[in-house]
Order: sequence, then structure tokens, then C-alpha cells
Amino acid sequence: MPNLKLGIVGMPNVGKSTLFNALADASAEAANYPFCTVEPNVGVVELPDPRLDLLFERVRPRAKVPATVTFVDIAGLVERASEGEGLGNRFLAHIREVDAVVHVVRCFDDPDVVHVLGDVDPVRDREIVRTELALADLQTVERRLERVEKVARSGDRDAKKEDRLLRRLQQDLGQGRPASAVTPENDEEALLLRGYQLLTTKPELYVANVAEEDVTGTGGDEEAVAARNPHVRALREAVARDDQPAEVVSLAAQMEAEVLGLEPEDRDEYLREQGLQQPGLHRLIHAGYRLLRLISFFTTSPKEVRAWTITQGTGAARAAGEIHTDFERGFIRAETIAWEDFVAAGSEKAAREQGLMRSEGRGYVVQDGDIILVRFNV
Ligand code: GDP
Repeated sequence: MPNLKLGIVGMPNVGKSTLFNALADASAEAANYPFCTVEPNVGVVELPDPRLDLLFERVRPRAKVPATVTFVDIAGLVERASEGEGLGNRFLAHIREVDAVVHVVRCFDDPDVVHVLGDVDPVRDREIVRTELALADLQTVERRLERVEKVARSGDRDAKKEDRLLRRLQQDLGQGRPASAVTPENDEEALLLRGYQLLTTKPELYVANVAEEDVTGTGGDEEAVAARNPHVRALREAVARDDQPAEVVSLAAQMEAEVLGLEPEDRDEYLREQGLQQPGLHRLIHAGYRLLRLISFFTTSPKEVRAWTITQGTGAARAAGEIHTDFERGFIRAETIAWEDFVAAGSEKAAREQGLMRSEGRGYVVQDGDIILVRFNV
């Protein structure tokens, strides 16, 4: 996986744009990733990783290249989709490509900010948005069904099988249930289902947008925030009843926008004053990594130190393929050292002398924080 892609959804007026603007500020420093220039609803931020920072200090290469996380504001797009408006293919592709859905829910009371339904009720809001997502998926399914149906009528066996699956999806989605409620009956169905890339089959995360005073002094501890904010408690209880309870990350979007708008050196001081260790955005990104079971490995050279994202359990050759397809094709071995060992030894040379570098074959399961040098031949 080259980089994690998260799609933001939520009711109107819950703080999505505020959060998105905070992202824009965070990505301003990532000068390599032009934000807002090509597509206004896509933001790229760097994955904060102190390990990479320390490697950079030790190796002193010319550049530091962190992994990135892409946020796509798909809320408006989904709304329009379920109203049956035609969407551009590129937008649809963005929606389909997201790895997980981040559902922003309003948990702050503020009489100055109207709630479209009158009162703050995250549990109700969550249900409404879930229904929206199901309807957006229903559209996708019905478009596909129109085509498949015709082929199925001509007697095509594969089309008939697909037709059956699509009708089951249509049934569930039409009643507002997520596509994940449809269990594939065989590998063929599982493959088809994956191919549709439906939103309601994607893993989810919740962002509880709370007031500043709900997070200050908590150090980002979710229990502490929940103890202060009854809306967050209600949301957590509702989510806990799901088949696969999603993680709830509480943050104050408005404060995030202020924090991330500061110069990096002022940011830490501001956070300290607020009794926080890191911006909520970082907690959100890390939650995304946990959700999708993602880990990082690193490469170092005089040119750059760089972080790469892979799924837990990825073998060395496959991981090498993230760097370059030739590396996977011509993979010979991976010279590997754990990040801690590298830092303790102080340099690659010292690590080699101390026998800390291991030579691993293609099946070696890459560990979080491994530093890897790929030997290959094509
Ligand atoms: P969107 O429609 O979900 O994109 O919502 P916006 O980000 O535009 O926010 C709607 C309104 O809520 C704006 O007036 C924001 O200033 C306000 N808002 C957003 N986040 C917070 C927050 O954490 N606390 C408070 N008090 N207001 C917020």
C-alpha cells in the first residue's frame, strides 16, 4: 500500500471543513505534496514518526521522506450521490479508493452553531450518515446490476452468479443496512464484492468533534474526554454495540485548526500549555494505521531516509516491491536491522561491525521499524 487514504464523511455543520482546513495547514509544510491546487477535496499530510526524525539526525542524509496519509473529503460527494446526481468519474474514483471511512460526529454544544436537526445527538447523526452511505452504495450496485442483468438474461453463467450477489446487496442496502452485512458465499463472491469497493464494506473510524475544554489537560486520553462529555459517552456506547466496534478519536477541530496553523516550534509549546502531547490529527492518523494493521519500515542512504507503509505480515520481497517493482522481481535478499539496534549502534557501519545486520530471504516477515537494504538483480 503506497499510502493510507482516508475518506471524511459526516452531517453538515459538524466540523468537517474545520478539520479539513486544519489538515491543509498541516500539509502546508509538506511542500512536496501540493495541496488544494489540483483538487480542493484532497489533502495529503505526512505521517508523524519520531523514529524517522531520529534516523534523519543520525544518518544526516540530504532529505527526509515520511510516509503520507491522504484525506479525501467525500461528504458532499456522497450526499450528491445519494440524491442521484451524476458525479464525475474522478470523484467517484476517489471515493472508491479510500481505505477507510472517517465519520466526523458533532459532540460539542454551541448555541451559535446551528445543528441542521436542531439538537446535538451523535447517535442519531451516525445512523443518518450510515443510511446515506448505504444509499450511495445502493446506487453503485444498481448501476452494476443494470448491466449484469442484461448479460445474465442471455444465459451467461458468471453474470447469473453476479446477479444473485448484486440482488442480495440491493436488498440490504435498500433497507439502510451496510454491504458488510452481506456475507459472500464463496471466493468468487468475495472477489466481486472487493471489486465493487463499496463504502459500507470499508473499515470505519469515528471522530468525535468536541469542545476545546473537553480535551485540554487530558493528554489525549479517550476515557478522560468521555468522562467530561456525555455526547462522546453516548457515541462510544452506540459504537460498542456494533459487530465490529470502531475506534472513536476525540478531538477539538477548531483547536486543531489553530494548533496546526502555528509554526512547528510554537506548536509544541501550545500543546504543552493545553496539557496535550500531540495534535489530535496525529492520534487520528495513528488510529487509521491500527485499523488497517499498517506498519512502517525504513530505508536509508546518503540521499535520504524514507518511511514506507506496508500491512502487517508482508514478506520482504513484497515490501521491497513498494520501493520499486524491480526490487521485488529481482529480489535476492534484504539486509535488515531493527530501528532500535541501528540507533543504539549509531551508524550503519557500527551496526555491521557489531553483527546487528541480518540477511533475510524473500519470505521474511518485515517488522514495524525495520531498516532494510534490498539486494536485487534484474
Ligand atoms: P461542516 O459542514 O461539517 O464542514 O462544518 P464546518 O467545519 O463548516 O463547521 C460548522 C461550524 O461549526 C463552523 O461555524 C465552525 O466554526 C464550527 N465548529 C467546528 N468545529 C467546532 C468546534 O470544535 N467547536 C465549536 N464551538 N465550533 C466548531
